[in-house]
Amino acid sequence: MPPTLTITHAEVFLVRLPLKFRFETSFGVQTEKLVPILVLHGGGQTGLSEGVMEELPMFREETLAGGLQLLREVLLPDVLGKPFANPQALAAAFSSYRGNQMAKAMLEMAAWDLWARTLDMPLWRLLGGVRERVEVGVSLGIQPSEAATVDMVARHLEGGYRRIKLKIKPGWDVQPVRAVRAAFPDIKLTVDANSAYTLEHTRVFQALDEFQLDYIEQPLAYDDLLDHAALQARIRTPLCLDESITSAQDARKALSLDAGRVINVKVGRVGGHAEARRVHDVSQAFGVPVWCGGMLESGIGRAHNIHLSTLANFSKPGDTASSSRYWTHDTVQEPLEMVDGYQAVPPGAGIGVTLDRDFVTRNAEESWERR
Ligand code: MG
Repeated sequence: MPPTLTITHAEVFLVRLPLKFRFETSFGVQTEKLVPILVLHGGGQTGLSEGVMEELPMFREETLAGGLQLLREVLLPDVLGKPFANPQALAAAFSSYRGNQMAKAMLEMAAWDLWARTLDMPLWRLLGGVRERVEVGVSLGIQPSEAATVDMVARHLEGGYRRIKLKIKPGWDVQPVRAVRAAFPDIKLTVDANSAYTLEHTRVFQALDEFQLDYIEQPLAYDDLLDHAALQARIRTPLCLDESITSAQDARKALSLDAGRVINVKVGRVGGHAEARRVHDVSQAFGVPVWCGGMLESGIGRAHNIHLSTLANFSKPGDTASSSRYWTHDTVQEPLEMVDGYQAVPPGAGIGVTLDRDFVTRNAEESWERR
């Protein structure tokens, strides 16, 4: 009998982690993260994931409260106690529900970890990865001055990061990029606007063309491919889409329109590993490179991201920086630290990290179980 994927019960913990630094983007300032953790149990194994829904619908429209309610009242009841052939078959049970990619991803990702542990295989092998370490870049928040930005970049280059991404917003774009490029003429440099601009700002992006950025990430509205295509036609620097891509179909449409020439893949934003792999494959067919973005994950989500980043077309450094950069105490026992610009894939079955159950239960603001 081949093994089946049967989830007997599920636990959810909500843990508030203080960030080690103040992280400013065009959305505002973040100083902590409320992390929802899912633990699936079945066949004597456990599977782990963390959700990337935020308390307020700033990045995409999903919210933490809404996502967890959907998980508890709809998604888990649809799969608990039923045998599935694999994680794709499990995800098919809730594929007819629209949207809610982050809530769906939370369940699907934990199911992949549980399945990989059931088969005693590392997740990256099951996903079809081709490398055992992944290149790491860093995303730097908006700083109070150009000098502070250059300092911050210098420190992270010394730390070994292989790509620097600067968050920008209207009024804080060309000047900091000019300062950083003048100080570091040869580094791999990018910017991320998190949808803060419109086509009225086209001149800002034409001005950025002079700095040999690797790409400009999500300058325009989160749901607008046409305007991204119009902007791409007027600048040389490749656009990279993040917020706009929630599925492989989105990726196909965007790339058909030349609305971007790079894609940032986030597992939570696209509904799980299977869809993330399809986004990777569609992009590859268009000759478009992808890289793995971050949502300030703790070690659980970070480990998932590292495994995904082993696929062949993840050919640019991802936002999979060291856990210790963000957190004094992580949700997992294993350190996930960058060495010489690379994160090694955590060894062992599944995602290769273990829940720090003591820490998580002690610090949970809320927890519940579903059978
Ligand atoms: Mg982004």
